[in-house]
Amino acid sequence: MQDKMVTLVCDAWSTLGEGPLWDNRTGHLYWVDILEGTLHFYDAGNSGSHNALSIKPFISSIVPRHNGGFALTLQDGFYAFDSSTHQISLLAEAEAHLTDNRFNDGKCDPAGRYLAGTMSLSNQPSRGALYQLDSNHTVKHLLSEVSISNGLAWTSDGETMYYIDTPTRQITAFDYDLATGDVQNRRTVVQIPEDQGYPDGMSIDSEGMIWVAHWGGWQVSRWDPNTGKKLGSIPIPASQVTSCTFGGPNLDQLYITTARAGLSDEDLTKQPLAGGVFQVSAGVNGVPANVFRG
Ligand code: CA
Repeated sequence: MQDKMVTLVCDAWSTLGEGPLWDNRTGHLYWVDILEGTLHFYDAGNSGSHNALSIKPFISSIVPRHNGGFALTLQDGFYAFDSSTHQISLLAEAEAHLTDNRFNDGKCDPAGRYLAGTMSLSNQPSRGALYQLDSNHTVKHLLSEVSISNGLAWTSDGETMYYIDTPTRQITAFDYDLATGDVQNRRTVVQIPEDQGYPDGMSIDSEGMIWVAHWGGWQVSRWDPNTGKKLGSIPIPASQVTSCTFGGPNLDQLYITTARAGLSDEDLTKQPLAGGVFQVSAGVNGVPANVFRG
C-alpha cells in the first residue's frame, strides 16, 4: 500500500476539512470545513470544478437523502438541505441547550437512520454524546460520555457498527440492531499505537476492512477489525488527516480530507498542502454511502 500514488484533488486550505461524501447521483465529492462553516463540492467528472457554500454554525457532516437533496448536522442538531435552492430547514434539535458543544462526524446506518455525535467546543472530556435521527425525525440518545465523536461505519450485514471516540485511540464495535437501531456489547477491535496519532474519520470497504484517518499521524491506514491487525498504510503529505471515503464511478478511489487546524506557521511551511483533499487508488472497492430515509 505504501507505493500507491497519492494525488492532490483540491488545494482547499480547509481549516478543518472533514466528512467527505461521494454522491453517486451526481459524481460529486462533498466535504465540510467545520470551523469555517463551509460546504465544499467538487465535480470529479469533466469539469473538475470546486465550489463552496457558507453553512453555519459548524456544519459537521452531510448525508444523501432518499427523497433528494441532503441532510446535514449544524452545531445543535439535524437539518435538511435542498441543494438546488440552498435552503436549510430544521429536522430535529438535539443539544440546543448545550452551547459549549457542537455536532461532529455523522453517517447513516443501512436502514436509513442518521447517526451523529457531539463534542465540547472547549475540549472538555466526556461532554459529548451519540445521537440517532429516525426517519420520523425523532432523536434517540445512544451513547453518553463521549469526548470527540467520530468514525462511524457498518458491516455489510448491518449487524455491527464501528465507532471512534478519538482520544481513546480505539476503534470499538457494537452489536447493531437494524430493526430498532439499538446498540449493545461495546468492545475494542483496534488500538492505534501512540506514535501514529489519533483515529478520526473512518470508512469500510467491500471486504469488511476499515480505513482510518490518523489525526497527527500523516496517514490513512487499513485494519482488519476481526483480528485487530494493521494491513497497511498510505502516507499523506499532511499531518492532520481527518477522514476518508470511497468514490469514483467504481468506488475504488479513496478521497481523503485534511486540516490546517492545530498547526503552527512553522508546521504549515513544512506541509503546504495541509487542508487539501487527496485521492488514491485504493486497490479495493468501497461501499456506497447509506442514505437518510426521513
Ligand atoms: Ca472527525
